[in-house]
Amino acid sequence: MKQIRYILSLLSAILALAGCASKDEITNSTAAPDVASGAVVSSEAIVESPDDNYRTWYEIFVYSFCDSDGDGIGDLNGVTSKLDYLEELGINGIWLMPIHPSSSYHKYNVTDYYAIDPQYGTMEDFENFMAECEKRDIHVILDLVLNHSGSEHAWFKEAVSYLQGLEEGEEPNAEDCKYLDYYFFKKEKDSKYCVVEGTDWYYEACFNYDMPDLNLHNENLRAEITEIMKFWLDKGVAGFRLDAAKEFYSGQVDKNIEVLAWIQETAESLKPDVYLVAEVWESFLQIAEYYKSGITSIFNFAFGNADGKIINVLRGAGQPDRVTTYATALEKADKAYGASNPEYIDAPFLSNHDVGRIAGFCTHHEQKTKLAGAMNLFMSGSTFIYYGEEIGMVGSGNDPSKRAPMYWNDARDNGTTNPPPECELPDEYPFGSLEHQTGDENSIYNYYRKAIEIRNAIPSISHGRTTAEAELNKGCVSAFRKTSDYGTSIVLMNIQEENAAADLAAYGDWMLAASLSADGNPVVMDGTTLQLPAYGTAVLVLKEETPN
Ligand code: CA
Repeated sequence: MKQIRYILSLLSAILALAGCASKDEITNSTAAPDVASGAVVSSEAIVESPDDNYRTWYEIFVYSFCDSDGDGIGDLNGVTSKLDYLEELGINGIWLMPIHPSSSYHKYNVTDYYAIDPQYGTMEDFENFMAECEKRDIHVILDLVLNHSGSEHAWFKEAVSYLQGLEEGEEPNAEDCKYLDYYFFKKEKDSKYCVVEGTDWYYEACFNYDMPDLNLHNENLRAEITEIMKFWLDKGVAGFRLDAAKEFYSGQVDKNIEVLAWIQETAESLKPDVYLVAEVWESFLQIAEYYKSGITSIFNFAFGNADGKIINVLRGAGQPDRVTTYATALEKADKAYGASNPEYIDAPFLSNHDVGRIAGFCTHHEQKTKLAGAMNLFMSGSTFIYYGEEIGMVGSGNDPSKRAPMYWNDARDNGTTNPPPECELPDEYPFGSLEHQTGDENSIYNYYRKAIEIRNAIPSISHGRTTAEAELNKGCVSAFRKTSDYGTSIVLMNIQEENAAADLAAYGDWMLAASLSADGNPVVMDGTTLQLPAYGTAVLVLKEETPN
């Protein structure tokens, strides 16, 4: 598929050169050649993307995504039926939230790490899903929940039943029940400890009574985890998302780093190009610290979520002081993370199943919602999109409300799921359903599609080391440079309601390779001045580096 795309881009570039203008004339025209005529990315700028772990990922809560059999609960066959949709959107990686048997709707309390929850389908359905993903070059990572198991897991049930069977005054012996040491049992009632029913024993459960914390330094448990990873890697998954890594040993960063280092090393021994991304809900300095584990990726909570840098900048839209700090923050984070792990791959995101949705953070402001999408997608690394984000779905309040059914169509039929328990649906979604948005060239959906196309066509955006572009990073224009083995690019974003202009007189070697309009007005090159409409984005690439 990639090769076909590459050949097509080569052909169109050859045609453009043969029939049209020289590169110099292009720079001086009112806009980049085919960008002006409606193409998303100038064919000259398209570079074949390497087949690696810098991807555009899509997080799916299977329960709420697509129901294939009419029981109202989303399932794996439902996800498979939407792979064409995801491919067209430009997605080349999927993160499935937990799919294993579990006693909760969200399935973060796993009762069997080797099986598929019957609500979601069968192992055959999973294998079919994987085969269909492979056809489309879509990688898949699974949520690997290692901080805790479910309280209904056989390991925990055996340990509990052993403790319950002890005689009065009898001390437990892990040689009689190895699962005792898989968890943290003790006789003192500490905070975050729950009682083992019918005994004077307690167990650690950091999140909830039905999620007993696992002892990740136990060698037998580590052997089990190795087997679990091997089982799913053998099924073709690209890697795992590591849930709640900060709570492996709550408050003990060094121990968490040691566990992450072990997981990375073990997973790499099973699959050298494995992709791991850890959830460490922390500030940027702590994330930098955790990168010392050698883990490939950590979700970049410093930029995502309601209090992250992206929303902070958008809330201060029109304030130059705040806007210009965006590019310098990107540079600072890149340097800090890279200093801890030179091989790190950033993992930016805007929202996920634990936080409110981005359209809400942007107070339903359509142009800010769009630009937030581009700010996320134009960060380096492996970018994550939470399902429904591409149509500006809203969702906040309790957890189920953040995990509402994907809004495929106005009638809510044809694959739409029932809401998860206690989910409160908004009376209406500010930007409508996917069906409503597909045909509207200026919809959030089509903006996302174009932004992803740009990201995928110009790999310096995802692979580049980021530096603020001091000459252009001024006023309400945020400008940053991406330097990579796959070329160099400069991204300019106008973060305000007013039009902005950037003087590119000193940038004669660069061409306008792609642009994104948030308000419907085009980005235009006027001589050597780049005109950026409200919340507009432009991408420049170094001409000498274009493939043709
Ligand atoms: Ca179903």
